[in-house]
Amino acid sequence: MTDYKNLIDGKMVDNGQWLEVLNPATEQVVGRVPSCGKEELDSAVAAARRAFTQWKKTTPEERQKVVQGIAAAIKENADELYRLLTSEQGKPHTQAQQEIYGAAGLAAAQSTLTLDDVINQDDDTRLSRTRRVPVGVVGGIVPWNFPIMMAIQKIVPALVAGCTIVLKPSPFTPLTTLRIAELIKDVVPAGTVNIITGEDTLGPLITEHPDIDKITFTGSTATGKKIMEGASGDLKRITLELGGNDASIVLPDADVEKVAEQLFWSSFSNAGQVCIAAKRIYIHKDIYDDLSQAIAAYAKTVVVGDGSQQGTGVGPIQNKKQYERVLDLIQDARDNGYKFLTGGEKDPSGTGYYVPITILDNPPEDARIVAEEQFGPVMPLMKFDTVDEVIERANNSEYGLAGAVWTKDTDKGVEIAEQLETGTVWINEFMQLSPFAPFGGHKQSGFGAEYGIDGLKEFTYPQVITVKRDAAV
Ligand code: NAD
Repeated sequence: MTDYKNLIDGKMVDNGQWLEVLNPATEQVVGRVPSCGKEELDSAVAAARRAFTQWKKTTPEERQKVVQGIAAAIKENADELYRLLTSEQGKPHTQAQQEIYGAAGLAAAQSTLTLDDVINQDDDTRLSRTRRVPVGVVGGIVPWNFPIMMAIQKIVPALVAGCTIVLKPSPFTPLTTLRIAELIKDVVPAGTVNIITGEDTLGPLITEHPDIDKITFTGSTATGKKIMEGASGDLKRITLELGGNDASIVLPDADVEKVAEQLFWSSFSNAGQVCIAAKRIYIHKDIYDDLSQAIAAYAKTVVVGDGSQQGTGVGPIQNKKQYERVLDLIQDARDNGYKFLTGGEKDPSGTGYYVPITILDNPPEDARIVAEEQFGPVMPLMKFDTVDEVIERANNSEYGLAGAVWTKDTDKGVEIAEQLETGTVWINEFMQLSPFAPFGGHKQSGFGAEYGIDGLKEFTYPQVITVKRDAAV
């Protein structure tokens, strides 16, 4: 077991009080991290504030170089990092590798983003120009499902925009983030990136801190609402990436054999703990029987187990609370007599937070397992008849994160996509995010956007400077 320290003002530090981090596959402690409160937060924020005075004056090229240094540090140490990530998060090694390399790739790509000045007016009367200025010190709060991707998608745009950041990983998955902190300690100027760990109670202290100017948060919708409330005291800027209940719509012309495997992974990757996982799959009645059988048959070939073992496709649920929530949803489905194509057995006792791959056969639209975000290896398949009907069912949710349409007729796919009330819709693929396209939720799935120029702008204020050309002075 290793102790991991926090990064504050360019130094790795601890306060002698520790939080233990469990491996969800073994329920054994894999590491300890500092348990911080107000005092440590105050020093991290003060360091970020001091660093901001210099960092905001750097050129885009200087900032790009630092961010590329972060990307390189992650990439060069990817082997160590992905193994550590599996040990605390539970995801299979292959998926942990994808996350680590994905985070390095995202940092490298987003390092190139720039916010150019915009000329609003340039004539004999006046020159009016909009520039973007960094908001200041950012508080970043990250969940446990993609701890590294989420940390990088907050640290990188903050730095690129000229802000400094205090980042709080989830208490369930802080280890790999702190190892990266150690690796980038000498890559980033002291105080520009601070990473501190603590219980959930550290979150509101960040949200309400008077010297933090902006909160960027990824996590549940319930916590997002608390953040909005906490940040309202001094009108902090906020970006919220929240929950989702994404619908996939499969039209009758889809090739059953070809889409079965993709639909499976669109739902069960990372044991279903993905905000943009397909959480409701609507299949046209003409192919429902064949496709549901094909998905169930594929599911039976996938191994559920310890993510560090070769061949594992679906790992454990990341933590006990979520494990119990998912088991409760399955119990509810059993209690209501819904039909299971796979899974649905009673609590699989034993070590590790394992849930068997569970696929439900056409449960009603108001079933909890359909209406709620499952965030586990559980997927309801539902039958639909007409396109209008399925669009209405897909949109019948307080969430609006993403969705997908599967069809050979891509024009038809786009026509349906344009009627879905979500921030992203994929046609014939899933979970593809571009570093250059905005990613954000409609309705209660979020507020604002990450990624791309839109995401970067959220770390800045517009400032308009006008020069009167025909002034009588
Ligand atoms: P969570 O909301 O419980 O916790 C997320 C983070 O917030 C953690 O770091 C936690 O310590 C902190 N936190 C908890 N209470 C807080 C408070 N009152 N104030 C401030 N911070 C607080 O979420 P989770 O269980 O870690 O993650 C799962 C959820 O995240 C799911 O709903 C999922 O859909 C969502 N998610 C969304 C996206 C997205 O991009 N939209 C991505 C990943 C996960």
